Amino acid sequence: MKKEDCIFCKIANGEIPSKTLYEDEDFRVILDLGPATKGHALILPKEHAANIYEITDSQAAKVMVVAKKMAALITEKLQCDGFNLVQNNGETAGQTVNHFHLHLIPRYQNDGQKILWKPGEASQEELEEVKRQITE
Ligand code: AMP
Ligand code: ZN
Repeated sequence: MKKEDCIFCKIANGEIPSKTLYEDEDFRVILDLGPATKGHALILPKEHAANIYEITDSQAAKVMVVAKKMAALITEKLQCDGFNLVQNNGETAGQTVNHFHLHLIPRYQNDGQKILWKPGEASQEELEEVKRQITE
């Protein structure tokens, strides 16, 4: 279902124009208005889901197939050197639009972007405890 006040519902369903790269029954892929790099695109499901916790198994499975196709197409056409897939959930994680979207971010040598994290440290015991918390 669409959500009345959701801008990505309106874009995904064609009610607000966008630079659409691809569309099928379930998704629209658009250029991001504030691109991190040339060709930065977003995969938007047409069916509203706020985030990873709300998408259906079917949406989850299909979105990666679309990502794979689009990454290959964008890489071929724009000749980028690498590719990041980014998907933010919740304000703390940087989500600003509460309609699930997968960022497709082509990377170019010396593009000046920083999408990677600062590696931390953890002992074997700490890792074991986290594993226990998640799996038990
Ligand atoms: P996030 O921070 O993961 O929620 O990403 C939201 C993304 O949507 C940002 O990269 C914005 O630049 C992009 N964005 C917001 N509004 C629009 C819009 N109307 N059309 C295209 N991209 C948008
Ligand atoms: Zn929506």
